[in-house]
Amino acid sequence: MQAQVKLGRIAGISIGLHYSWFIIALLITLSLAGRFHSVASQWSTGVVWASAIITSLCFFVALLMHELAHSLVAKAHGIRVQAITLFALGGISQIENDAPDARTEFWMAIAGPITSAIIGFVFLGIAFWVGWRPGAAPAQPAVAVCLWLGYINLVLAGFNMIPGFPLDGGRILRAVIWRITGNADTSMRVAAQAGETVAFAFIVLGLMRFFVGASFSGLWWAFIGWFLLDASRSSYAQTELLAELRDRRVGEMMERDCPTVDGKSTLQEFVDRYLLPTGGRCFIVEEGDRVAGLITPNEVRGAERALWPSKRVDSVMRPLQELHIVTPDTPAIQALQMMRREDVNQLPVVSNGRLEGIFSRSHVLRFLQIRGELLR
Ligand SMILES: [Zn+2]
Repeated sequence: MQAQVKLGRIAGISIGLHYSWFIIALLITLSLAGRFHSVASQWSTGVVWASAIITSLCFFVALLMHELAHSLVAKAHGIRVQAITLFALGGISQIENDAPDARTEFWMAIAGPITSAIIGFVFLGIAFWVGWRPGAAPAQPAVAVCLWLGYINLVLAGFNMIPGFPLDGGRILRAVIWRITGNADTSMRVAAQAGETVAFAFIVLGLMRFFVGASFSGLWWAFIGWFLLDASRSSYAQTELLAELRDRRVGEMMERDCPTVDGKSTLQEFVDRYLLPTGGRCFIVEEGDRVAGLITPNEVRGAERALWPSKRVDSVMRPLQELHIVTPDTPAIQALQMMRREDVNQLPVVSNGRLEGIFSRSHVLRFLQIRGELLR
Protein backbone atom coordinates (compact mmCIF):
# COMPACT_ATOMS: atom_id res chain seq x y z
CA MET A 1 0.00 0.00 0.00
CA GLN A 2 1.51 3.29 -1.15
CA ALA A 3 1.07 6.42 0.97
CA GLN A 4 -0.26 9.38 -0.98
CA VAL A 5 0.24 11.94 1.76
CA LYS A 6 3.60 11.94 3.52
CA LEU A 7 3.58 13.28 7.06
CA GLY A 8 7.27 13.07 7.90
CA ARG A 9 9.62 10.70 9.67
CA ILE A 10 9.74 9.20 13.15
CA ALA A 11 12.91 7.28 14.09
CA GLY A 12 13.84 7.11 10.40
CA ILE A 13 10.49 5.57 9.39
CA SER A 14 8.45 7.58 6.92
CA ILE A 15 4.86 8.06 8.05
CA GLY A 16 2.12 8.44 5.45
CA LEU A 17 -1.59 8.33 4.77
CA HIS A 18 -3.44 6.42 2.07
CA TYR A 19 -6.46 8.18 0.48
CA SER A 20 -8.84 5.67 2.02
CA TRP A 21 -7.80 6.92 5.45
CA PHE A 22 -9.48 10.30 4.86
CA ILE A 23 -12.83 8.66 4.13
CA ILE A 24 -12.63 6.71 7.38
CA ALA A 25 -11.48 9.76 9.37
CA LEU A 26 -14.49 11.65 8.02
CA LEU A 27 -16.90 8.78 8.85
CA ILE A 28 -15.48 8.43 12.37
CA THR A 29 -15.76 12.17 13.01
CA LEU A 30 -19.36 12.24 11.70
CA SER A 31 -20.45 9.22 13.75
CA LEU A 32 -18.72 10.58 16.87
CA ALA A 33 -20.51 13.91 16.45
CA GLY A 34 -23.83 12.03 16.22
CA ARG A 35 -22.95 9.96 19.27
CA PHE A 36 -21.84 12.91 21.42
CA HIS A 37 -24.96 14.78 20.37
CA SER A 38 -27.22 11.96 21.56
CA VAL A 39 -25.44 11.17 24.88
CA ALA A 40 -25.15 14.83 25.90
CA SER A 41 -27.90 16.87 24.27
CA GLN A 42 -27.03 19.88 26.43
CA TRP A 43 -23.70 20.41 24.59
CA SER A 44 -23.50 23.20 22.03
CA THR A 45 -22.87 22.29 18.39
CA GLY A 46 -19.37 23.76 18.62
CA VAL A 47 -18.46 21.57 21.60
CA VAL A 48 -19.87 18.45 19.87
CA TRP A 49 -17.80 19.01 16.73
CA ALA A 50 -14.63 20.03 18.60
CA SER A 51 -14.89 16.85 20.73
CA ALA A 52 -15.48 14.69 17.65
CA ILE A 53 -12.48 16.13 15.80
CA ILE A 54 -10.16 15.91 18.83
CA THR A 55 -11.26 12.30 19.41
CA SER A 56 -10.55 11.22 15.83
CA LEU A 57 -7.16 12.95 15.90
CA CYS A 58 -6.27 11.12 19.14
CA PHE A 59 -7.52 7.86 17.58
CA PHE A 60 -5.18 8.46 14.66
CA VAL A 61 -2.23 9.02 17.02
CA ALA A 62 -3.15 5.83 18.95
CA LEU A 63 -3.19 3.79 15.71
CA LEU A 64 0.16 5.25 14.77
CA MET A 65 1.60 4.32 18.17
CA HIS A 66 0.36 0.73 17.69
CA GLU A 67 2.21 0.51 14.35
CA LEU A 68 5.27 2.30 15.73
CA ALA A 69 5.46 -0.30 18.50
CA HIS A 70 5.71 -3.09 15.88
CA SER A 71 8.28 -1.13 13.88
CA LEU A 72 10.46 -0.09 16.80
CA VAL A 73 10.72 -3.68 18.07
CA ALA A 74 11.65 -4.73 14.51
CA LYS A 75 14.30 -2.02 14.33
CA ALA A 76 15.68 -2.99 17.73
CA HIS A 77 16.26 -6.47 16.22
CA GLY A 78 18.11 -5.00 13.27
CA ILE A 79 15.23 -5.34 10.79
CA ARG A 80 14.78 -2.41 8.43
CA VAL A 81 11.42 -0.62 8.47
CA GLN A 82 10.73 1.63 5.51
CA ALA A 83 7.36 3.16 6.18
CA ILE A 84 4.14 3.13 8.14
CA THR A 85 0.99 3.80 6.13
CA LEU A 86 -2.41 4.38 7.69
CA PHE A 87 -5.39 3.34 5.57
CA ALA A 88 -9.10 2.55 5.96
CA LEU A 89 -8.59 -0.57 8.09
CA GLY A 90 -5.76 0.62 10.31
CA GLY A 91 -2.05 0.75 9.72
CA ILE A 92 0.53 -1.22 7.79
CA SER A 93 4.22 -1.26 8.69
CA GLN A 94 6.42 -1.94 5.70
CA ILE A 95 8.96 -4.16 7.42
CA GLU A 96 11.60 -5.26 4.97
CA ASN A 97 12.56 -8.72 6.18
CA ASP A 98 10.81 -11.52 7.97
CA ALA A 99 11.68 -12.00 11.61
CA PRO A 100 14.83 -14.15 11.84
CA ASP A 101 13.47 -16.31 14.69
CA ALA A 102 10.31 -17.16 16.62
CA ARG A 103 11.22 -14.96 19.60
CA THR A 104 11.62 -11.83 17.49
CA GLU A 105 8.38 -12.59 15.61
CA PHE A 106 6.55 -12.96 18.94
CA TRP A 107 7.73 -9.65 20.40
CA MET A 108 7.29 -7.76 17.12
CA ALA A 109 3.68 -8.99 16.93
CA ILE A 110 2.61 -8.56 20.53
CA ALA A 111 4.09 -5.06 20.91
CA GLY A 112 1.15 -3.58 18.95
CA PRO A 113 -1.77 -5.00 20.99
CA ILE A 114 0.12 -4.30 24.25
CA THR A 115 0.53 -0.65 23.20
CA SER A 116 -3.18 -0.35 22.28
CA ALA A 117 -4.22 -1.95 25.57
CA ILE A 118 -2.00 0.43 27.57
CA ILE A 119 -3.39 3.45 25.67
CA GLY A 120 -6.94 2.13 26.32
CA PHE A 121 -6.39 1.77 30.06
CA VAL A 122 -4.69 5.17 30.27
CA PHE A 123 -7.74 6.86 28.68
CA LEU A 124 -10.18 4.98 30.92
CA GLY A 125 -7.99 5.97 33.89
CA ILE A 126 -8.12 9.63 32.86
CA ALA A 127 -11.93 9.42 32.50
CA PHE A 128 -12.16 7.91 35.99
CA TRP A 129 -9.83 10.57 37.38
CA VAL A 130 -11.93 13.36 35.81
CA GLY A 131 -14.98 12.05 37.60
CA TRP A 132 -16.63 9.32 35.50
CA ARG A 133 -17.93 6.20 37.29
CA PRO A 134 -18.66 2.95 35.38
CA GLY A 135 -22.31 2.82 34.33
CA ALA A 136 -22.82 6.58 34.37
CA ALA A 137 -23.41 8.56 31.19
CA PRO A 138 -20.54 10.97 30.42
CA ALA A 139 -21.58 14.47 31.38
CA GLN A 140 -18.41 16.35 30.43
CA PRO A 141 -16.89 16.40 26.94
CA ALA A 142 -13.49 15.33 28.29
CA VAL A 143 -15.04 12.23 29.85
CA ALA A 144 -16.91 11.29 26.67
CA VAL A 145 -13.73 11.66 24.59
CA CYS A 146 -11.60 9.62 27.01
CA LEU A 147 -14.24 6.89 27.34
CA TRP A 148 -14.58 6.39 23.61
CA LEU A 149 -10.78 6.38 23.12
CA GLY A 150 -10.38 4.01 26.07
CA TYR A 151 -12.90 1.48 24.77
CA ILE A 152 -11.86 1.69 21.10
CA ASN A 153 -8.21 1.02 21.95
CA LEU A 154 -9.15 -2.00 24.07
CA VAL A 155 -11.35 -3.28 21.21
CA LEU A 156 -8.42 -2.70 18.86
CA ALA A 157 -6.09 -4.68 21.11
CA GLY A 158 -8.64 -7.51 21.37
CA PHE A 159 -9.45 -7.58 17.65
CA ASN A 160 -5.77 -7.72 16.75
CA MET A 161 -5.25 -10.68 19.07
CA ILE A 162 -7.60 -12.89 16.97
CA PRO A 163 -5.28 -15.73 15.92
CA GLY A 164 -5.37 -15.50 12.14
CA PHE A 165 -2.65 -14.12 9.88
CA PRO A 166 -2.18 -11.21 9.00
CA LEU A 167 -3.67 -10.04 12.32
CA ASP A 168 -1.15 -9.67 15.15
CA GLY A 169 -2.70 -12.68 16.88
CA GLY A 170 -1.95 -14.74 13.76
CA ARG A 171 1.69 -13.67 13.95
CA ILE A 172 1.79 -14.63 17.62
CA LEU A 173 0.26 -18.02 16.71
CA ARG A 174 2.94 -18.36 14.06
CA ALA A 175 5.70 -17.54 16.56
CA VAL A 176 4.40 -20.15 19.02
CA ILE A 177 4.16 -22.90 16.36
CA TRP A 178 7.55 -21.86 15.01
CA ARG A 179 9.02 -22.19 18.51
CA ILE A 180 7.49 -25.65 18.96
CA THR A 181 8.16 -27.13 15.50
CA GLY A 182 11.31 -25.19 14.67
CA ASN A 183 9.97 -24.77 11.12
CA ALA A 184 9.40 -21.23 9.83
CA ASP A 185 7.46 -22.31 6.72
CA THR A 186 5.10 -24.76 8.46
CA SER A 187 4.24 -22.21 11.13
CA MET A 188 3.49 -19.62 8.44
CA ARG A 189 1.20 -22.02 6.55
CA VAL A 190 -0.78 -22.83 9.69
CA ALA A 191 -1.12 -19.16 10.65
CA ALA A 192 -2.23 -18.26 7.10
CA GLN A 193 -4.82 -21.05 7.09
CA ALA A 194 -6.11 -19.90 10.47
CA GLY A 195 -6.31 -16.42 8.94
CA GLU A 196 -8.43 -17.76 6.08
CA THR A 197 -10.83 -19.41 8.55
CA VAL A 198 -11.12 -16.18 10.56
CA ALA A 199 -11.71 -14.24 7.34
CA PHE A 200 -14.53 -16.60 6.25
CA ALA A 201 -16.11 -16.30 9.69
CA PHE A 202 -16.08 -12.51 9.37
CA ILE A 203 -17.66 -12.66 5.91
CA VAL A 204 -20.41 -15.12 6.95
CA LEU A 205 -21.21 -13.36 10.24
CA GLY A 206 -21.13 -9.97 8.53
CA LEU A 207 -23.52 -11.03 5.76
CA MET A 208 -25.84 -12.64 8.32
CA ARG A 209 -25.87 -9.44 10.38
CA PHE A 210 -26.62 -7.48 7.24
CA PHE A 211 -29.41 -9.70 5.84
CA VAL A 212 -30.94 -11.13 9.01
CA GLY A 213 -30.22 -8.35 11.49
CA ALA A 214 -30.62 -5.63 8.82
CA SER A 215 -27.55 -3.95 10.26
CA PHE A 216 -25.25 -1.97 8.01
CA SER A 217 -22.26 -2.70 10.21
CA GLY A 218 -22.55 -6.28 8.89
CA LEU A 219 -21.30 -5.07 5.52
CA TRP A 220 -18.30 -3.54 7.27
CA TRP A 221 -17.54 -6.91 8.92
CA ALA A 222 -17.80 -8.66 5.57
CA PHE A 223 -15.50 -6.08 4.05
CA ILE A 224 -12.88 -6.63 6.77
CA GLY A 225 -13.24 -10.40 6.21
CA TRP A 226 -12.70 -10.01 2.50
CA PHE A 227 -9.57 -7.93 3.13
CA LEU A 228 -8.22 -10.51 5.60
CA LEU A 229 -8.97 -13.34 3.16
CA ASP A 230 -6.98 -11.66 0.45
CA ALA A 231 -4.07 -10.93 2.79
CA SER A 232 -3.94 -14.44 4.29
CA ARG A 233 -4.07 -16.05 0.84
CA SER A 234 -1.29 -13.91 -0.55
CA SER A 235 0.89 -14.56 2.48
CA TYR A 236 0.28 -18.30 1.99
CA ALA A 237 1.37 -18.01 -1.63
CA GLN A 238 4.38 -15.96 -0.62
CA THR A 239 5.40 -18.60 1.90
CA GLU A 240 5.27 -21.29 -0.79
CA LEU A 241 7.44 -19.08 -2.95
CA LEU A 242 9.94 -18.39 -0.15
CA ALA A 243 10.08 -22.09 0.74
CA GLU A 244 10.90 -22.84 -2.89
CA LEU A 245 13.54 -20.12 -3.08
CA ARG A 246 15.17 -20.70 0.29
CA ASP A 247 18.68 -22.16 -0.10
CA ARG A 248 18.66 -21.24 -3.81
CA ARG A 249 21.53 -19.16 -5.11
CA VAL A 250 21.60 -16.51 -7.81
CA GLY A 251 23.92 -18.74 -9.88
CA GLU A 252 21.17 -21.38 -10.27
CA MET A 253 18.70 -19.00 -11.89
CA MET A 254 20.67 -16.31 -13.69
CA GLU A 255 20.83 -15.94 -17.43
CA ARG A 256 24.31 -16.90 -18.56
CA ASP A 257 24.20 -16.16 -22.25
CA CYS A 258 23.28 -12.55 -22.10
CA PRO A 259 23.06 -10.72 -25.41
CA THR A 260 25.87 -8.21 -25.82
CA VAL A 261 26.09 -5.03 -27.82
CA ASP A 262 29.13 -2.98 -28.82
CA GLY A 263 29.33 0.30 -26.89
CA LYS A 264 30.28 2.15 -30.07
CA SER A 265 27.03 1.31 -31.90
CA THR A 266 24.38 4.00 -32.19
CA LEU A 267 21.05 3.79 -30.42
CA GLN A 268 19.31 3.39 -33.79
CA GLU A 269 21.46 0.35 -34.63
CA PHE A 270 20.86 -1.05 -31.14
CA VAL A 271 17.07 -0.72 -31.49
CA ASP A 272 16.89 -2.08 -35.06
CA ARG A 273 19.40 -4.92 -34.80
CA TYR A 274 19.23 -6.03 -31.17
CA LEU A 275 16.28 -4.77 -29.15
CA LEU A 276 13.44 -5.36 -31.63
CA PRO A 277 14.52 -8.65 -33.28
CA THR A 278 15.55 -10.46 -30.07
CA GLY A 279 12.83 -9.21 -27.73
CA GLY A 280 15.46 -9.03 -24.95
CA ARG A 281 15.03 -6.53 -22.14
CA CYS A 282 18.59 -6.18 -20.95
CA PHE A 283 21.85 -6.08 -22.89
CA ILE A 284 25.46 -6.07 -21.80
CA VAL A 285 27.48 -3.26 -23.31
CA GLU A 286 31.00 -4.31 -24.28
CA GLU A 287 33.96 -2.14 -25.00
CA GLY A 288 36.62 -4.30 -26.63
CA ASP A 289 36.41 -7.51 -24.58
CA ARG A 290 35.58 -5.62 -21.39
CA VAL A 291 32.10 -5.30 -19.90
CA ALA A 292 31.29 -1.59 -19.62
CA GLY A 293 27.68 -1.53 -18.48
CA LEU A 294 24.06 -2.43 -19.14
CA ILE A 295 21.41 -0.99 -21.41
CA THR A 296 17.65 -1.57 -21.25
CA PRO A 297 14.68 -0.02 -23.13
CA ASN A 298 14.50 2.51 -20.27
CA GLU A 299 17.80 4.13 -21.21
CA VAL A 300 16.78 4.27 -24.87
CA ARG A 301 13.49 5.93 -23.98
CA GLY A 302 15.44 8.51 -21.97
CA ALA A 303 17.24 9.72 -25.11
CA GLU A 304 15.52 12.05 -27.58
CA ARG A 305 14.32 10.12 -30.61
CA ALA A 306 15.92 12.49 -33.15
CA LEU A 307 19.32 11.74 -31.58
CA TRP A 308 19.08 7.95 -31.91
CA PRO A 309 21.05 7.80 -35.21
CA SER A 310 23.96 9.80 -33.72
CA LYS A 311 23.99 8.95 -29.99
CA ARG A 312 26.20 6.04 -28.93
CA VAL A 313 25.07 3.19 -26.70
CA ASP A 314 27.92 3.80 -24.23
CA SER A 315 26.79 7.40 -23.71
CA VAL A 316 23.38 6.38 -22.28
CA MET A 317 24.15 2.98 -20.72
CA ARG A 318 24.31 2.40 -16.99
CA PRO A 319 28.05 1.99 -16.27
CA LEU A 320 29.04 -1.18 -14.41
CA GLN A 321 30.55 0.72 -11.48
CA GLU A 322 27.22 2.46 -10.80
CA LEU A 323 25.22 -0.77 -10.70
CA HIS A 324 24.36 -2.85 -7.69
CA ILE A 325 25.89 -6.25 -8.28
CA VAL A 326 25.53 -9.72 -6.82
CA THR A 327 27.71 -12.83 -7.01
CA PRO A 328 26.59 -16.32 -8.12
CA ASP A 329 26.66 -17.32 -4.43
CA THR A 330 24.29 -14.56 -3.26
CA PRO A 331 21.07 -16.13 -1.88
CA ALA A 332 18.25 -15.62 -4.38
CA ILE A 333 15.93 -14.13 -1.72
CA GLN A 334 18.56 -11.55 -0.79
CA ALA A 335 18.96 -10.57 -4.45
CA LEU A 336 15.17 -10.17 -4.81
CA GLN A 337 15.09 -7.95 -1.71
CA MET A 338 17.95 -5.89 -3.11
CA MET A 339 16.05 -5.38 -6.39
CA ARG A 340 12.98 -4.22 -4.50
CA ARG A 341 14.99 -1.86 -2.30
CA GLU A 342 16.93 -0.31 -5.17
CA ASP A 343 13.91 -0.42 -7.50
CA VAL A 344 15.75 -2.16 -10.36
CA ASN A 345 14.60 -5.04 -12.54
CA GLN A 346 17.90 -6.78 -13.09
CA LEU A 347 21.21 -7.24 -11.35
CA PRO A 348 24.54 -8.06 -13.00
CA VAL A 349 26.11 -11.18 -11.53
CA VAL A 350 29.85 -10.63 -11.13
CA SER A 351 32.46 -13.02 -9.86
CA ASN A 352 36.17 -12.18 -9.55
CA GLY A 353 35.59 -9.01 -11.52
CA ARG A 354 34.08 -10.92 -14.46
CA LEU A 355 30.45 -10.64 -15.51
CA GLU A 356 28.92 -14.11 -15.21
CA GLY A 357 25.33 -13.32 -16.08
CA ILE A 358 22.18 -11.35 -15.34
CA PHE A 359 19.67 -12.03 -12.56
CA SER A 360 16.10 -10.73 -12.90
CA ARG A 361 12.59 -11.36 -11.64
CA SER A 362 11.64 -13.04 -14.89
CA HIS A 363 14.46 -15.58 -14.41
CA VAL A 364 13.10 -16.41 -10.97
CA LEU A 365 9.59 -16.85 -12.40
CA ARG A 366 10.87 -19.06 -15.22
CA PHE A 367 12.86 -21.16 -12.76
CA LEU A 368 9.80 -21.67 -10.54
CA GLN A 369 7.57 -22.41 -13.52
CA ILE A 370 9.87 -25.10 -14.91
CA ARG A 371 10.31 -26.63 -11.47
CA GLY A 372 6.53 -26.65 -11.03
CA GLU A 373 6.08 -28.44 -14.36
CA LEU A 374 8.70 -31.08 -13.49
CA LEU A 375 7.15 -31.82 -10.11
CA ARG A 376 3.57 -32.03 -11.33
ZN1 LIG B 1 -0.71 -4.63 14.89
